[in-house]
Parts: sequence; structure tokens; C-alpha cells
Amino acid sequence: MSPAVLESRLRMLRDGRYNVLPLDEAVRRLYEGTLPPRSVALTFDDGMFDFHARAWPLLQQFGFPATVYLTTYYSDYNKPIFGLLCSYVLWRARVRMPEPDVTSLFGTPMRWRLSDAAGRARAHREILAHADRERLTLPERTALAERLAELLGEDYEAIRAKRLLTVMTREEAAEVARGGVDVQLHTHRHRTPNDHALFLREITDNRERIEQIRDGVARHFCYPSGIYRAEFLPWLREAGVTTATTCDPGLASPRSEPLLLPRLVDTSLLSPLDVEGWMTGMSAFFMPRKASAHVARSQSLADA
Ligand SMILES: [Zn+2]
Repeated sequence: MSPAVLESRLRMLRDGRYNVLPLDEAVRRLYEGTLPPRSVALTFDDGMFDFHARAWPLLQQFGFPATVYLTTYYSDYNKPIFGLLCSYVLWRARVRMPEPDVTSLFGTPMRWRLSDAAGRARAHREILAHADRERLTLPERTALAERLAELLGEDYEAIRAKRLLTVMTREEAAEVARGGVDVQLHTHRHRTPNDHALFLREITDNRERIEQIRDGVARHFCYPSGIYRAEFLPWLREAGVTTATTCDPGLASPRSEPLLLPRLVDTSLLSPLDVEGWMTGMSAFFMPRKASAHVARSQSLADA
């Protein structure tokens, strides 16, 4: 989502007299039954660099509260997020290199089809599955992403220098937290292991770092990439998490399971009418997601 589209969304919220509430208050009042009509909570996933650079100044201008679900390893590591970088370079190569030979990446003869979305999604799944299968560490994943970028004719260093697809540094995250942004949980390494101990470690590691930059315990969580399983719910309760948001489209109601809250995933692809339809037609609780990630994407397109 470009800053211009985000600004138009915020203007729509202001002109439509929506009640933009802090997440914590919105959730509390939702279950107490005291939520005012036309209530909205704004959330941004990952805590991308351009949240700090582009989205936050707009939110301040409109005086709207917001929550950022921060993935802390990438904040300290400060290189592009592996999965996002892969999907970005695959998308960029779609015309210039529609059927690349990727044998050198995997060591087995393989060719991808990048000209259509299904082919790119398949390539993305394959590279992520390869990284998991080979149990690559995050620096090894970065090295793989660099090799992928090079093979597809992209300049990894240029992407990195522009801080595309890169999370805010700890100092930048602390600055937005001091400015009133609610920084919450999104796992340390942007993954949800199926192993109980590893899953809890993701929350603990994430929370420890977040609590260095915010006041109070972080108790709101967002599933990385929207992926969840039934067993995660008792694990989240054990970790003292009170709400968890998914990417499942919908409006939260008092009957919603607090650890499976739906959201409206807002992107530049939605028309203003789509968004208003969501908000006025079904009222209640609206949460644009990944606006900052989409700002990054549009910025990248503008650079192309
Ligand atoms: Zn995320």
C-alpha cells in the first residue's frame, strides 16, 4: 500500500467519524459489550522500516492510535525478511526472466515458471520448503536469498541499502513506542514452530525484547503469515497471551474466539468502495493489516 492510499484510508476513517481505538481498549470493550458503533483498531504487521518512515507520520497527523506486531530478530538483524524478499524478487523477474533455470540453487535440475501468480507462488513455496528441509539458519537463509536475487538479475545490496522489506531497528521501534504506538508480539523469528517448547521460546524471546522498548507486558499476538493450528491456542494461553489476530477475513464480534480474531486485510487492491462496504455494511471492528509491508512493496514498484 502506498502512503497515498494509506492516507486516503485514514481520511475515510476520520470523515466517516469512525471510532479508532487502541487495540487493548477495543478488545476489552468488545467483550464487555461497551464497544461504540463504527469502532476500528489499526494494526500493522512485522514493524517494517517504512512504518517508521511513512505510516507513522500519517497516523500522527490524523491522531489515530495503532498497534505494530514486531518480529524482533529481524529488527536486530536488520536485513530483508527472507520470505518477503524471495516473493519480491520472484515477482520482479516475471517478465525479464519468466522461466529461469534454478538448478544451481537446489543442486537438482529445476526450472520455474514466474510469468503467472500460481507459478510464482509455487516457486515461493519451494524455496521456503528447501530452507526448512535443509534447516538453514537465518544468515544461511539470507545467503540463499542473495543467491536467488543474483540468479534473477537483482541487486541484493541495492535492496538492502534502501531498507526495502526490512524491519525497524530497535532504536526506531523504541522511538515509535515512545511516541505512543502499541508494540506487540509477532514471534522473534517470524515463525510458529509446531514444537511446544520452540513455540513458547518464540514468544518469550519476542516478549523480552519488546518489553525493553515498551511499558507493561505485551499480551497481544499476531500469527506470522496468518498461519495457525489448533494446538497453538493452549500454548498462547500458557504464555499469557490474551488475543491473537489471524488473516482470516471478518469482523470481530463478542462471539469471536479471542485467540482467533479475524481482520480486514487491507491492500491497494481494495477500492475505497470495498473498504467502506466492509466498514458500514458490517460495522464493528476493522483492522487493516500489512499496510506497512504494502507500503514497502509499492515503494519498490516506484523504484522499478
Ligand atoms: Zn508478519
